[in-house]
Amino acid sequence: MTKTKQIETTGKTGQLTALPHERLERVWAWGGASSSMGYVFRPTTLEQLRDVFELAYQSGRSVGLKGGGNSYGDAFMNSENIVLDLSRMNRILAWDPETGVIQVEPGVSIEQAWKYILEDGWWPPVVTGTMKTTFGGCAGMNVHGKNAWQVGPIGDHILEFDLMLPSGAIMTCSREVHSDIFHAAIGGFGMLGCFTSLTLQMKRIYSGYLQVKTSAPANLQEMFTFFEENLATSNYIVGWIDAFAQGDALGRGDAHLANYLPSGADPNPQQSLRLDRQNLPDTIAGIVPKSSMWMFMRPFMNNWGTSFVNLAKYTAGHLGSGKNYWQTHAAFHFLLDYVPNWKKSYGGDGLIQYQPFIPKENAREAFAAILRTCQQHDLPNYLTVFKRHRPDDFMLTHGLDGYSMAMDFRVTDGRRPQLTTLARELDAIVLAANGRFYFAKDSTLTPETTVAYLGQDTVNQFHALKNQCDPDHILQTDLWRRLFVA
Ligand SMILES: Cc1cc2nc3c(=O)[nH]c(=O)nc-3n(C[C@H](O)[C@H](O)[C@H](O)COP(=O)(O)OP(=O)(O)OC[C@H]3O[C@@H](n4cnc5c(N)ncnc54)[C@H](O)[C@@H]3O)c2cc1C
Repeated sequence: MTKTKQIETTGKTGQLTALPHERLERVWAWGGASSSMGYVFRPTTLEQLRDVFELAYQSGRSVGLKGGGNSYGDAFMNSENIVLDLSRMNRILAWDPETGVIQVEPGVSIEQAWKYILEDGWWPPVVTGTMKTTFGGCAGMNVHGKNAWQVGPIGDHILEFDLMLPSGAIMTCSREVHSDIFHAAIGGFGMLGCFTSLTLQMKRIYSGYLQVKTSAPANLQEMFTFFEENLATSNYIVGWIDAFAQGDALGRGDAHLANYLPSGADPNPQQSLRLDRQNLPDTIAGIVPKSSMWMFMRPFMNNWGTSFVNLAKYTAGHLGSGKNYWQTHAAFHFLLDYVPNWKKSYGGDGLIQYQPFIPKENAREAFAAILRTCQQHDLPNYLTVFKRHRPDDFMLTHGLDGYSMAMDFRVTDGRRPQLTTLARELDAIVLAANGRFYFAKDSTLTPETTVAYLGQDTVNQFHALKNQCDPDHILQTDLWRRLFVA
């Protein structure tokens, strides 16, 4: 494996420039389980962005790119080095309501975009479980939505992007021009260059509502059956699993499918497409203010409490199974934004997520083994989300023709070593099943596991493109050094 180079370039005088102390900030992983100190810069223009790269050369420091900071682990952290926060480069540069083509700066969030285009009858083709993510960060990880098996990851909807290299040069890339860099920078977690503008195709919609149907599969087998029976006729499907259930109930949960309303089905689309119809409620169940909900959840964030909550949720889902209703796009997609700061309920040491992707032919057995292994370690995950995916053309893809299970684990000082041991065991199950992993969610992978799932050839090709785009290895993050530097 190619080693990460030391940055050798110095300023014009030959002296390294010191970075300003006032820029030093603690940068937290979204899950709150790790943090590191970095010199944070927040440019608003291309010139300021170039200046930061120039400063990196002059100071002998590396640069890690940060969007909305919603990756669960260390993907945007860059200890003792520069963190380039792109969230203030957030202008919508062009929007064509006839064709649905949008051009954005990298810091534009999914929230900004859907709020901008909804009333024209469009919706982003791929959205994440939170609307706080930025297009730069979403392209950097090549995120997927609850429709991944049908429309692929966000990269499949990017028509073109501009990428600023650490030299300050800007390359325009598409499927036709610099196709190799197009397919490696999308999903390349900010290691080839910085997206400075992205052009994407949005999805036409004819109502502010989706038609939703619920089910409560009694075990993992029924969960798979629900997905397989509905894939051909649904636009979105997502499953939630009670990770505490055992025996015949292993893998039981809730599943929701949703479909766009066809043109003409909504009698009043002008009304339903209005922004104020999409607002998430201010209270839960009409009583508890959303902002304080995490405090009510806090006492339940242990194995006993969460097993009770999971049972209650499954029972409620079971009683309501088969329900059919209309739900706004925002309410269906951004369930995790309903409760602001819900991650605080996990306590001061936060959470990590582990999301393996397994080919469909191995998925039933592998996911059953994963759930059982977590239970044997007495480390059941507290929130488990199940999705279907398809393969794509991107170099470091996590996509495949199969399923993923995103699992949130509470971290405490005592649990850290146990979680590492558990992760090693789960890695072995995933690799034996020809599975893949996802850097956006990762905190525990090793360089060996990374090579094992990506393949040495792919890793070498990525290093070759990095040497071409970033010969001095200015672009680095804690994740890069953890997984790609042997
Ligand atoms: C509650 C929640 C729900 C989520 N749901 C989903 C989901 O449904 N599907 C899914 O796929 N993911 C999901 N995620 C993960 C999240 O979507 C990804 O981590 C996404 O990349 C975060 O975007 P961000 O703007 O916060 O980027 P960051 O987390 O800040 O950065 C992500 C990566 O992109 C790089 N990057 C940032 N900006 C640029 C740029 N301008 N140019 C090049 N590289 C850049 C960074 O270096 C980093 O490696 C979820 C996360 C949370 C917290």
